[in-house]
Amino acid sequence: MKRTRKKYRDLTNEKFGRLTVLYRAPNSDTRHAMYFVECKCGSGTKIVRGTSLTSGFTKSCGCYQRECAAKRGPENTKHGCARRSEQPIKEYSAWRDARHYHDGVTYDFSRFYSLVGPAPEGRSRLCRTLDGAFKWV
Ligand SMILES: [Zn+2]
Repeated sequence: MKRTRKKYRDLTNEKFGRLTVLYRAPNSDTRHAMYFVECKCGSGTKIVRGTSLTSGFTKSCGCYQRECAAKRGPENTKHGCARRSEQPIKEYSAWRDARHYHDGVTYDFSRFYSLVGPAPEGRSRLCRTLDGAFKWV
């Protein structure tokens, strides 16, 4: 059976995590299908790449990750919190550095993140205290 070239699936009205696809946006410069989405939290619309949605890469405007971080606690990191897609860049690189320079740092970024919490605004960096915990200074 001959297959025709795969068409872009139209994602309008589909839901991905907390996001609902409103309508198709103009393609990106790199010719990716883009969509206007609305997040359940009411933060307004934003434009995301269609493939980010279908691959499960983007599931919220970022609020999901923020809520998870606010709740802290390891049990909250098990349910998809701090997924790769929503990992905060700054905290993630701090974790990588911590693993590089210190012993006994957890290999689980979610767990690490639940312990140190989100980085404060501005020029902050992660330091290890005398009791072995990490904190932002
Ligand atoms: Zn949101």
